Order: sequence, then structure tokens, then C-alpha cells
Amino acid sequence: MSRRITLVSQKGGVGKTTVALNLALALAERGRRTLLVDLDPQGGIGHALSRGDTELVGLADLLMGQIQPEEAILPTKVPRLSLFPRGRLDPADACDFELALASNGVLDSTLAKVERGFDITILDNPSGLGLITRAALMLADFALIPFQAQPLALRSTSQVLRVIDRVRSGENPKLQLLGILPTMVERDNDASHAVMMDIWSSFEAVTDTTIPRANVFADASLRGLPVGFLSGPVSPEARRFEVLASEVESLMDQLTPMEKQDVVRPERALL
Ligand code: ADP
Ligand code: MG
Repeated sequence: MSRRITLVSQKGGVGKTTVALNLALALAERGRRTLLVDLDPQGGIGHALSRGDTELVGLADLLMGQIQPEEAILPTKVPRLSLFPRGRLDPADACDFELALASNGVLDSTLAKVERGFDITILDNPSGLGLITRAALMLADFALIPFQAQPLALRSTSQVLRVIDRVRSGENPKLQLLGILPTMVERDNDASHAVMMDIWSSFEAVTDTTIPRANVFADASLRGLPVGFLSGPVSPEARRFEVLASEVESLMDQLTPMEKQDVVRPERALL
């Protein structure tokens, strides 16, 4: 079964969608069959790929019974990376979309229809701890919290951690905190540095990988591309997601009990 990672943050604009897209790409390039799911009623992934609000069919169409599960999945030009877009949704129906996804078991069974054949499912959520984020936490294996290196972020991260604890002790005991991922880190900025010192001293689960603040993300957003797809020399920021993908894989393995890991090795000869 595909391992589900949900991206959660209280605040908007912290880099959730950027991390979801670039991490999904990096995992696919490492050989994992990866499904990137857009759960944001505003269609964050569609916007990040310059496909706007209405172009791609997906989740909303499937929920309304207008398409079959196989039509909802959009393979990309990257082998092993597919998208499950938000789908065509009239803004006037956003509230119904949210309520439908939050109804008992609906999101879980909808994902189960499309996840066959994937190793990892990345769920990009709307900001905040509303119905959709909560529904995603109830069916995820792992939560990843992008943390924008700014002073108020510490408080909102504590709130997210409390919600994760509550979901784990109630509806979803298998949910694990994958990590708190610092984003938009400015190495030469004293305030950013001070926040990093605070986060390292306040929380244990901070990832080793951090994502720097860099103009290349705005360039990539404007072009509707992952950062690694801009032409020219490969940016260190794109490389950062390769490192993050490798860290995410080893964190998932560490957090999954050995008996649950399907590690199957053929016998090999050394000489
Ligand atoms: P969220 O999904 O949390 O609302 P986004 O990923 O959409 O956040 O990012 C918000 C904006 O910040 C986008 O314009 C994006 O290009 C920009 N951005 C994201 N990550 C970075 C970064 N590391 N450095 C600079 N800009 C970034
Ligand atoms: Mg977003």
C-alpha cells in the first residue's frame, strides 16, 4: 500500500505546495512511484503548474461521479510521477467539496481507488487546521510540517503538533510525525537565524534538510515549473530537494516498524 505523507501548516504561504511538488518530483526521480494529490479547494498544485483553476479534471470530478478513477490520474512527463489534481470546481461549490471530503471515510476510499501501483502519496493541503487538513491527517501515515523561519511560526507549529497528537490518540493511531521542515531560511539574516535556534531548541523532530529562501522559487512559480526544471545550471535549491527526498525516505524507514517493511532482497553473488 502506498505510504501517505500529508503536508500540514497553520499558516498560508509557508511553502507547502512548493515542497509537495518538488519533493514528489525528487522522490519519483529516486525511483519511487509517486502520486501528488491536490486537496486544496483553491487548487494549489494546479496553480503551481500554471494550469489555473479549471483545466485539469481530478478529485472534484471523481467525487461527483463524473469520471472514472483512472481518468482522474494524470501521468506526467517524469516517469513514476503522477498527479491527482483538485479537479474542476466552481468556487461556489468549494464548501460542498470540503464537506464531501471531510465526510466519514470519503477521502480514504477515494484515494484507495487511485493509489494502486504507487509507493508514496503526497497530500498537499489547504492552509490551516480545517476540515480537509483534519481528514487528511486521519488517513495519513506521516505528517510533514513546513515551518517558515519567521518569529510567529513557533506558536503555529505547536498548534499543529497538538492536532497531530490528538488525531494520533484518537482516530488514526498509525499517524507519525515525519518532521518539521524549515523553509525560506535566510542564512545571512539575524532574525531568520534566531528563529532557527529557537526551533532547534524547542522541537526534536526538525529535519536535517532545510529549504533556503531563494528567488529561483519565484521564477519557477512564474513559469509553472518545479525548480529543477528551469533551464540553465542546476540550482543548489533543486539539489536541496534531492537531499530532502533521501532524508524523507530514511525517516519513513526509521519510523516504520521492521515487521511492517516489505524489504525483499534476492540472493546475490559477490564474486
Ligand atoms: P503554501 O502552499 O504554504 O501556501 P506556496 O508553496 O504556495 O505556499 O508558496 C507561497 C509563495 O512563496 C509562492 O509564490 C512560492 O513561489 C514562494 N516560495 C515558496 N518557497 C519558497 C522559498 N524557499 N524561497 C522563496 N520563495 C518561496
Ligand atoms: Mg498551497
